[in-house]
Amino acid sequence: MKVRAQIGMVLNLDKCIGCHTCSVTCKNVWTNRKGVEYAWFNNVETKPGVGFPKDWENQKRWNGGWVRKPNGKIEPRMGPKWRILAKIFANPDLPEIDDYYEPFDFDYAHLQTAPEMKHFPTARPRSVISGQRMEKIEWGPNWEEILGGEFAKRSKDYNFEGVERDIYGQFENTFMMYLPRLCEHCLNPACVAACPSGAIYKREEDGIVLIDQDKCRGWRMCVSACPYKKIYYNWESGKSEKCTFCFPRIEVGQPTVCSETCVGRIRYLGVLLYDADQIEKAASTPDEKDLYQAQLDVFLDPYDPKVIAQARADGVPEAWLEAARRSPVYKMAIDWKVAFPLHPEYRTLPMVWYVPPLSPIQSAASAGALEMDGEMPDVRSLRIPVGYLANLLTAGKEEPVVQALERMLAMRGYMRARTVEGVIDHKLA
Ligand code: SF4
Ligand code: SF4
Repeated sequence: MKVRAQIGMVLNLDKCIGCHTCSVTCKNVWTNRKGVEYAWFNNVETKPGVGFPKDWENQKRWNGGWVRKPNGKIEPRMGPKWRILAKIFANPDLPEIDDYYEPFDFDYAHLQTAPEMKHFPTARPRSVISGQRMEKIEWGPNWEEILGGEFAKRSKDYNFEGVERDIYGQFENTFMMYLPRLCEHCLNPACVAACPSGAIYKREEDGIVLIDQDKCRGWRMCVSACPYKKIYYNWESGKSEKCTFCFPRIEVGQPTVCSETCVGRIRYLGVLLYDADQIEKAASTPDEKDLYQAQLDVFLDPYDPKVIAQARADGVPEAWLEAARRSPVYKMAIDWKVAFPLHPEYRTLPMVWYVPPLSPIQSAASAGALEMDGEMPDVRSLRIPVGYLANLLTAGKEEPVVQALERMLAMRGYMRARTVEGVIDHKLA
């Protein structure tokens, strides 16, 4: 056993209001510079949807993440031969600027200039670049929430797994959720493995993945290899850049900028202890559907005296051991199992975890789901299909998601019974 400490983040998707404050404050601090105008170390996507950059979840297109070979070993999907060829010629699996953007605005002038009509005029979205109506362009970041039905009709090839396509776009059945995204600071980062210059490294002390700007030679293999498309090429400096997990703030005990400024208070930071000797075994788990459980198995109990003794022997500082014991990430992801990694099937063992949304919680409440006296409702009857959440968070395995949703419903029901309208139920108190 080799004990290491890793900083991670949990995001409670039930609480994200899609305000994009996190993205804007991150941009102001980290990418408000020439060369990275298009880059968003943090972005907030509308799901189901195409995402940012466009279609990032389609690894067949981008060759990202790891694949398991017939001999049981894993290697970056792009493979060593491919990397040599790509160095000589050009890397074909890079998103282009059109994959990052079609920025759009709304035609507010139309509200004043529209002729008299039966219904109130609408400010339709239009491209900031060409002025064209967005329905004609087919894509732009977060445009699904503006043009959901239109989007459903047009984009046949994107990641909608777990959603019956026919229901999407029907007003009474449609649903959406927000997915804030940042670099996952993976335990098994494909970007590190793909870099020919050895410029990307994972810090021993806290697991933050960084790019050494002096060593980076701008090959951009990392951009292809990262399955989350969270590395950006700076066209001014000729180097790649990525989220730093705000390490200068973390080092002085402050939260990341996105966490501190989050309006919904959805982000929790914390330390996990893991066994570095188990990473390869976990990442090469044969069946994709077992990868979520395999990822859980690499983490260690911060209260176990044997783990603590080994951590001390391996040089983990006392302050980090204490942080691991107080970690909300450990509680939610490992202990309570209500937070999940994003797309564990990419085999990078990502370290940003998500609490799946029950939303809209009002529909659960009005269906009687929060009554303490009633039967536990079937969470599969909630509006967001469990299959869709499982495809995002557990490589398609539905049971862990169902259990997490049930746990959260029960917790909400309990708190509601105790506190709604100031009435305290003494049986529960
Ligand atoms: Fe590397 Fe971050 Fe991408 Fe993981 S999410 S492969 S650590 S850039
Ligand atoms: Fe969601 Fe918080 Fe970002 Fe707003 S600031 S979009 S609530 S994660």
